[in-house]
Amino acid sequence: MAEIKLREHPCYGFRVGCVICGQVFEQDGVAAMLMMPGADKRLGIGDVCPECLDAGPKGAAERARGYAVYLRERAGKVDDLAVLLEDVPFSAWATSKQVKDLEDEGDRRIDLAQAQAHGFNE
Ligand SMILES: [Zn+2]
Repeated sequence: MAEIKLREHPCYGFRVGCVICGQVFEQDGVAAMLMMPGADKRLGIGDVCPECLDAGPKGAAERARGYAVYLRERAGKVDDLAVLLEDVPFSAWATSKQVKDLEDEGDRRIDLAQAQAHGFNE
């Protein structure tokens, strides 16, 4: 049988996704963990948001079903995306190195602009 276990959480303002409904929420000092039976002990499978807690088990089940519908729809869109990506030529693609190089160039421009704004010369 599943159950909710409360435990102190060392991180305040830590953003997590609810395992039941997928909503991202902020934890403040106490986490509500959904526990499931494992082979020899209970396993924590994820954090539960305040709305799912307040919905109770049956309401949380409805929220889980709604999240499952969303995930199935999303999975279909990701499958469609995979089909589209198969036709993209490599020349129309970018690498992470190109992104990093452009970020570094942007950082240098910002550093230069800040230095100029403060009257520093390179
Ligand atoms: Zn939730």
